[in-house]
Amino acid sequence: MSDRVIPLVDQRIASLVARIPSMPIAATGLLGDALGRPLRDLRISVTDRCNFRCSYCMPKSIFDKDYPYLPHSALLSFEEITRLASRFVDHGVQKIRLTGGEPLLRKNLEILIEQLAALRTTEGRPLDITLTTNGSLLERKATALKAAGLQRVTVSLDGLDDAVFRAMNDVDFPVADVLNGIEAARAAGLGPIKINMVVKRGTNEHEILPMARHFKGTGIVLRFIEYMDVGATNGWRMDEVMPSAEVVAKIHAELPLVQLDPSSPGETAERWGYADGSGEIGVISSVTQAFCRDCNRARLSTEGKLYLCLFASQGHDLRHLLRNGTSDADLGSAIAAIWQGRDDRYSELRASMPPDASTGGRRVEMSYIGG
Ligand code: SAM
Repeated sequence: MSDRVIPLVDQRIASLVARIPSMPIAATGLLGDALGRPLRDLRISVTDRCNFRCSYCMPKSIFDKDYPYLPHSALLSFEEITRLASRFVDHGVQKIRLTGGEPLLRKNLEILIEQLAALRTTEGRPLDITLTTNGSLLERKATALKAAGLQRVTVSLDGLDDAVFRAMNDVDFPVADVLNGIEAARAAGLGPIKINMVVKRGTNEHEILPMARHFKGTGIVLRFIEYMDVGATNGWRMDEVMPSAEVVAKIHAELPLVQLDPSSPGETAERWGYADGSGEIGVISSVTQAFCRDCNRARLSTEGKLYLCLFASQGHDLRHLLRNGTSDADLGSAIAAIWQGRDDRYSELRASMPPDASTGGRRVEMSYIGG
């Protein structure tokens, strides 16, 4: 008999119904939530599947061949995604990040990128369109992604040592292939490139300095992410979190750093520049330092649920509106009403609450919502 634990409540099914408000909400591009935060950044997950099995995100013991991934019919089509994205843009979104799962596993993703690249902000400007990837398919796809209108990429890379990297992705994927993918992205003009490294104490903290040395002076911005308590399957423990302050101190001891100002409001990473002017790094401290106050991000799941926080336990189902003949104006009003009611600030409340208290239940998985 298998000892695999099947969750009692599938978070993808438990959802809130998105309603059309009785009074239409005009799309002025100036929408604010209950705490006055604007809507600027939309993250769209295009698949819940990934070819890696990083233990902090999609541990093999849970995400095995029997895992109930979403059926194709549940996924939003490219037309549905673009139609929704357009309503978000009407309400102020300026940046779209495609994510997953592994977004490059979604067939013909370039077609979606072309559609999104045709959208314009309320001021008539093109959107900032970017993508987060594990880099495994980037070497093959970089040129086509750029041609379709993708502007830049963020590549997740947790170490340079091949053995460490293969163990962390847990599918024996070689680091050289990801490095080739990063090079292909650079050659295709998909920059400025960012690299995200999740630091897990006891697993890859000895890769911090080699990674910093490798990317210093290349124009690529390396960002260190604290291992987060997202989802419910990664067995998260605080003692495996390496606080960003420690990461900065470690690098500063060998490669002196100076703190830089944020480049935009709501930016997730704190910026540090090399004192010799040879570039910068970032640290994302979602565990040790809350950054909810300026959070302007909305997250759309693969099957069309709108999440207002990475640590939310439920999303608002927009797909049923899309598939029920709702007009664009009503769809936009429904999205606006949800955003206006948003008062989430999980990270700020976390310190004073028991693990699940602020979200009222089991949190959504990172591989489903996309980070
Ligand atoms: N497959 C793509 C990739 O690898 O970038 C996109 C999806 S992945 C869920 C997005 C980002 O979330 C990656 O940089 C990954 O390292 C990060 N991530 C996943 N689980 C995490 C956790 N528990 N703590 C911190 N970051 C995590």
